[in-house]
Amino acid sequence: MSELRDWPVKRLGRDQIRRDSVDLRKQLGIHSLKRFNFLEILRNRVPYLGGNFTGLQVIVRPVADLSGHPAVTHFPKRQGARIFITKDLEEGAQKEHALSQRILMHEFGHVRYHDQAPKAYLAGNFEAISYIEDNETSAEWQADEAQLSFAAPDQFIKQYPDPRTLAKECNLTFEDAKKAIDIFSITVKNRSEHPAYTAFKRDLFIASKNENSELPPEIEGQWLALDHAAGRDPFYYRLCPKGFLIAKEEYQKMTPCGWRFSHGIIEAYFNMQQ
Ligand SMILES: [Zn+2]
Repeated sequence: MSELRDWPVKRLGRDQIRRDSVDLRKQLGIHSLKRFNFLEILRNRVPYLGGNFTGLQVIVRPVADLSGHPAVTHFPKRQGARIFITKDLEEGAQKEHALSQRILMHEFGHVRYHDQAPKAYLAGNFEAISYIEDNETSAEWQADEAQLSFAAPDQFIKQYPDPRTLAKECNLTFEDAKKAIDIFSITVKNRSEHPAYTAFKRDLFIASKNENSELPPEIEGQWLALDHAAGRDPFYYRLCPKGFLIAKEEYQKMTPCGWRFSHGIIEAYFNMQQ
């Protein structure tokens, strides 16, 4: 549910938002969970993630205070963000209703990426502000993307490619399930497939069955020599010599099967992951 206001923010694309969502689900310990109580997570786990989330509170306010919105996020100075919600929204979220959870995830998206109150809102005439057309600089578009990518990660879209099943399994509204599948299929179509990718996937599959948790010293050394990725924990992420992002867990699976950065296939593989 979008508010009636929008405001320009730092440019951010869908790929980055989807990658961030995977990281956040991991940090929150819900990476492989299809269903969860997001209100409970927002109140009890999210504030400990640090950054913009520090001191976050979810507070029930009378309907009249929220100008007809089910939820509004504020960023008070020198305090954590405040997500104000109606009693109805809180009750819906306690029952894990899909629509209530999606509203909370949208506000969570604002806290993730936007740490200032919208200028239009401060000016008091936000209803007159129309949506920003350049999606990647629109706060509302970013919050919607953050919500959808958090609610419907790729792994579940691959598992349940039918909107009705995806909605049921992952507690999404039907519209969101359909939108998530549509976005996913467009993204896959736009990926360029390297001719050797099939061979790589085959070897990766074999290697993943006897994956070592520890890397051999020379392989570990090669990993540590790689460049850091901006804004990413260098323990988990590095850049390959071609500049593509590599997750350590994937690298651990690759190295036992003999694939190395020098093969160039790593480039193709991570191109697929973008
Ligand atoms: Zn919003």
